[in-house]
Amino acid sequence: MDDLQGPLRTKVCIIGSGPAAHTAAIYAARAELRPILFEGWMANDIAPGGQLTTTSDVENFPGFPQGIQGIELMDKCRAQSAKFGTQIFTETVNKVDFKTTPFKVVTDSRIVIADSVIVATGAVAQRLAFPGSGEGVGGFWNRGVSACAVCDGAAPIFRNKPLAVIGGGDSAMEEATFLTKYGSKVYIIHRRNTFRASKIMQQRALSNPKIEVLWNSAVLEANGDKTLSGLKVKNVVNGEVLDLEVNGLFFAIGHEPATKFLDGQLELDSDGYVVTKPGTTLTSIHGVFAAGDVQDKKYRQAVTAAGSGCMAALDAEHYLQEIGSEEGKTD
Ligand code: FAD
Ligand code: NDP
Repeated sequence: MDDLQGPLRTKVCIIGSGPAAHTAAIYAARAELRPILFEGWMANDIAPGGQLTTTSDVENFPGFPQGIQGIELMDKCRAQSAKFGTQIFTETVNKVDFKTTPFKVVTDSRIVIADSVIVATGAVAQRLAFPGSGEGVGGFWNRGVSACAVCDGAAPIFRNKPLAVIGGGDSAMEEATFLTKYGSKVYIIHRRNTFRASKIMQQRALSNPKIEVLWNSAVLEANGDKTLSGLKVKNVVNGEVLDLEVNGLFFAIGHEPATKFLDGQLELDSDGYVVTKPGTTLTSIHGVFAAGDVQDKKYRQAVTAAGSGCMAALDAEHYLQEIGSEEGKTD
């Protein structure tokens, strides 16, 4: 690899650009640790700023009673990181070396030598591609189609309207049950005739009178005018096609954590999420911390990501003190 810029040295290198990474950067920068942050260049096809750049209104992040656009919220987070002295590079990290200390973090044009590293690369909500599911002309993405029921389910367009969730795992059960608070009815559309969700989550969903399951089913098409109003759903066993009136469609078909670039150097769980010690952001490598959706498959919210970003900065600061590299305090 050509290191065009010459190696940079830092106490804390932060990888990622969502609420977790920027909260970690704000804390680390205020502690005078002079963090370097790699925000990615369309890493996993998501703009710097992370998953919130793919949505419109964020109504559940504290401090914004009127809601705030996802892109605007992330611009503000970035500005706050920069204000306190975080050095931000719009580059994607494609390699790390955690085998020896100090650690190495590598992009196409730069090597950073870091005493500690915070991994906050997030996850990508999986989406299905069929006519009407995407952005742009003829697509209903963000106009009825979403990948986050907890985030978008309370929107007025879904109130007292029939809704649908695709998936058969715990997320689908949880999201369908959650949506019954708002929708008149919720269909779970699942491609097989059994759920993989845990028994307790299944029971909770199946015993809810507002939920109906369409087994062995796949969505062929989404249609509507300005917003989504219906789906064509095919029974994959008998081939029948059904026109389903729904005003909301939520993908709950899994997330992919952004951990491939770690190349097996941190312990991951069977779904590829970084394993952290419960109640902390400590990973399997002393001095490497993980925050946000990359280590959280349960809550997956901006505010929980931000909270764990704060924890990662504090954990990193304690580690740096421990190895005799301390500088400043966080409060
Ligand atoms: P992410 O937001 O996942 O960002 C990580 C970013 O790091 C990546 O996107 C990429 O830009 C960068 N990156 C990745 N790999 C690399 C690399 N190798 N090198 C450098 N950079 C890299 N939550 C809410 O609380 N409220 C909402 O209203 C809400 N709405 C949502 C709507 C949608 C459509 C989606 C998909 C999610 C929504 N969420 C919402 C969930 C929320 O966006 C996530 O929980 C949160 O963004 C996770 O933050 P994060 O910091 O872990 O990382
Ligand atoms: P899962 O991978 O468990 O489930 C994904 C579901 O989506 C599966 O039912 C799968 O179908 C379906 N699916 C995948 N791809 C497609 C496709 N192309 N077309 C149609 N359907 C598709 O993901 P989850 O997000 O549900 O859960 C991930 C992890 O998080 C799990 O470990 C889960 O237990 C955990 N979790 C726990 C929660 C809790 O305890 N409260 C809440 C949410 C998640 P098929 O079954 O046929 O493969």
